[in-house]
Amino acid sequence: MFNKIKHRNTKQRKVILEELKKTTLHPTAEMLFKMVKKRSPKISFGTVYRNLNLLKEQGQILELTCGKDSCRYDGDITPHYHFFCLTCKKVFDLNISVLDKEEKLYKDIYKKTGLAIKYHRLDFYGYCKECEIKMKEIKKSDK
Ligand code: ZN
Ligand code: MN
Repeated sequence: MFNKIKHRNTKQRKVILEELKKTTLHPTAEMLFKMVKKRSPKISFGTVYRNLNLLKEQGQILELTCGKDSCRYDGDITPHYHFFCLTCKKVFDLNISVLDKEEKLYKDIYKKTGLAIKYHRLDFYGYCKECEIKMKEIKKSDK
């Protein structure tokens, strides 16, 4: 019985991880729940949520900046930066080089402070292209 449950849990976790790795949307738990449900109709939101936390603790996925009530998740754990649209809440990868590939900055910080840096995060916030166009149109029509 125990093994059966364990097997089911492992299978569900695999599906969750696969669906998260497939998308570039950086979904919230709710968004991912809807995606996973298409493949595993019986899965519950609690299961998705629990497994996201577990996968995060195992270092298999990333939890990005959390908004008011939900966090965004990323199946791509290679170092990269994100852009967060303040209006439509879209999150996407920024194709820019990651600071400190040679770890010079970390060494400098260590020299100055004695702190051993293991990783860093850098998030960018603003308006995506679509939202900027819409905002400009609204401004124009206000005049
Ligand atoms: Zn936007
Ligand atoms: Mn990403």
